[in-house]
Amino acid sequence: MINDGWAGTGSLRKLIFVLAIIGLGYLLLQMRPVPLQVSAWSGSVARPGSITGEAAPLTGRGIADPDVPAIDPLGLPNTIMTQGYGVGSHAPAEIWGAVDLAIDGNGDGQADPDGTLGTPVYATHDGVVHLASNTWPAGNHIWLEGIHFKTGYSHLQGFAVADGQAVKRGDVIGYVGSTGQSSGPHLDYQVWKDGVNVNPLDYNALAGTR
Ligand SMILES: [Zn+2]
Repeated sequence: MINDGWAGTGSLRKLIFVLAIIGLGYLLLQMRPVPLQVSAWSGSVARPGSITGEAAPLTGRGIADPDVPAIDPLGLPNTIMTQGYGVGSHAPAEIWGAVDLAIDGNGDGQADPDGTLGTPVYATHDGVVHLASNTWPAGNHIWLEGIHFKTGYSHLQGFAVADGQAVKRGDVIGYVGSTGQSSGPHLDYQVWKDGVNVNPLDYNALAGTR
């Protein structure tokens, strides 16, 4: 029941009411904010100070538009980048753009293979997961598809979700491995915006660790 006052009144009033609702919906769509400048978020993402490697609480939940990637997919303050965007096997950026992420367990600036293997991988935004096992070169791979954004998670040890499952930012979706074309445990992480490959570092992939 919408409103007792409207029930049973003339069809003209009902028509006006419906048109008003449609108009309001259209206005709301027009007013929908464009994705925020994500670079402005990096200062506002609180991270735990610990570098012990313990699971850290994910802080991305509630940050503005849930469609926008906004957190470190490894969720740990001692996440490091072992290969940058658009270089090496990540070139050209339009096709292979990604960053490789690993865990630096002892703070020496180097990836710690034992500390990295099996680390939980978090969805960096809301969306639906599509799983692919034993692909080349991506190994066990997840595409997480949102509205404007799609993120890729490669070389996984295993999956924590079912194909087609809807997930929220901060949900565990898999575990870091070294499957496919990989020289050691790491996460290859890609961000695509409206079909264009973009730099994950612009979307807080290393938030709190730089
Ligand atoms: Zn990579």
